[in-house]
Amino acid sequence: MPRDHRGRRVSKNDISFRDRPINLDEKGSRKWVYAKKPKGPWYRRRTLFSWFVLLFFMAVPFIRINGNPFILLDIAGRKFILFGAIFWAQDTLILALLMLSFIMFIILFTVSFGRLWCGWACPQTIFMEMVFRKIEYLIEGDFRKRLALDRGPWTAEKILKKIVKNGIFILISLLMTNTFLLWFIGSEKWFQLIAEPISENITGFSIMLGVSGFFYWVYGWFREQICTMVCPYGRMQGVLLDSKSIVVSYDYKRGEPRGPKTEGDCIDCRQCISVCPTGIDIRNGTQLECINCTACIDQCNSVMKATKKEPGLIRFASESGIQEGHQSIWNARNRAYSVVLLILFSFFIYTLFTRPDIETTILRTPGLLYQENDDGRLSNVYNISIVNKTHEALPLEIRLISHTGEILMAGSKMEIADQDRFESTFILYIQPLLLDSDNTEVVFGIFSNNELIESYKSSFIGP
Ligand code: SF4
Ligand code: SF4
Repeated sequence: MPRDHRGRRVSKNDISFRDRPINLDEKGSRKWVYAKKPKGPWYRRRTLFSWFVLLFFMAVPFIRINGNPFILLDIAGRKFILFGAIFWAQDTLILALLMLSFIMFIILFTVSFGRLWCGWACPQTIFMEMVFRKIEYLIEGDFRKRLALDRGPWTAEKILKKIVKNGIFILISLLMTNTFLLWFIGSEKWFQLIAEPISENITGFSIMLGVSGFFYWVYGWFREQICTMVCPYGRMQGVLLDSKSIVVSYDYKRGEPRGPKTEGDCIDCRQCISVCPTGIDIRNGTQLECINCTACIDQCNSVMKATKKEPGLIRFASESGIQEGHQSIWNARNRAYSVVLLILFSFFIYTLFTRPDIETTILRTPGLLYQENDDGRLSNVYNISIVNKTHEALPLEIRLISHTGEILMAGSKMEIADQDRFESTFILYIQPLLLDSDNTEVVFGIFSNNELIESYKSSFIGP
């Protein structure tokens, strides 16, 4: 006789969940999940939390700190604004440390609390369960009505409901895409874009429509398969979780043997399955498909209440907590991860607060050699880029401090606005006698109000 994940003897049907993804039938075709509408304290908490997340998502592009957006991910301009502070391409180390700290935090959090992020804060779940699914419940009714509607003939009522539902889904998909766009281009540029005729931004408009179509396809059709089959984070659960991770768990010690007239508390009503948005049976143990949404906790607690039993047959618990009766989230793994996180985050804070106010890059213009001028001097052409990370505009001047030479700047004055970048080209003239070799090191000084604020080494090529 086959055994389940805990080694118990079970009938062949009991382990059929291992054969294939839960939303595929024997032939590999999609089995649509008709999840029952959840209700209960956990669902209320999750709804409340999702409002905050949605509000944050929609409001962030319009929040400003010292005139800067609160968050802006300007990839095209190689500029990122996080909590009002600007990070440039030159700050890659700081951004990499921030990203590594975030990844380590997610790993530590997952080892300790499982896939809590997925059920509570992931945009996919928030939009699916708290926006699109709620609209669906409102228009088509709870799971039984939806099932009957989908299987029934195309009546006028069904056509109307499908048109209204899909019309709203398309509008929300457009709204989502534009909100994402605001995160990447900022509210000012977005308002400017929508004021211009579509014919002037046909590529951007087509991309926007394409992304909206993708969102509509995901939330209207693909749905929970993102979490169960696509998301790499979901697929890492197998290596991140251990017996001390606190996840949504079925207390098999208390529930088994299951059945309406057995001594176990589980009456095998299957209500926990009917409410699950990924369609799984949590009684089979922790599974990759479980997004920790807590819908089954609420549903089982209402069954426990109706059968006058203690709530918590399904609850947040670790495998060792259920097995031994007491739980602690600390083990060698998450202690080690905490230390690594602390080191990474400290390093990030250190580099953040010690980053220079001005960052200069001076490189000889690629592809150009030296030039011999009529007055006997040699010249090289350079590209200069200066990033001003301070909150004040700076008048700047560039001088050659290692040799005697002359700098001829393209354009007029060098002045950079606060938190801005200056880019230009200049020519450096030097007498050949002053050069050590055909590739001489030269040092430039960046001055502001006659004060040296940064020096930069480059090279000057000659014959
Ligand atoms: S809802 Fe509770 S009692 Fe009903 S099948 Fe699920 S675990 Fe058992
Ligand atoms: S098993 Fe429970 S917590 Fe996990 S996804 Fe299904 S309903 Fe949500």
